[in-house]
Amino acid sequence: MSSDVYEAVASGFKRSSEIPKDDDLYYRCLDCNGVIPSVPTKNVGCECGNVFIDKDYWRLVVADLSKIEVVRKKTS
Ligand SMILES: [Zn+2]
Repeated sequence: MSSDVYEAVASGFKRSSEIPKDDDLYYRCLDCNGVIPSVPTKNVGCECGNVFIDKDYWRLVVADLSKIEVVRKKTS
């Protein structure tokens, strides 16, 4: 059994435009604990709907900014 391990990069954002995105960054929803890539290949959102990325417009929509954390996948 292997499970992905993430380390926190940043949180406590005031607006969604402050939130960084990169190939190795992911967003964790602190409500449902879902993790989604910050640069997705298609529209993606967490299970509870707090975090959603509209890939066509590169738009990040966060219902509650206190419930999102930027994380990076740990190697090894
Ligand atoms: Zn969620």
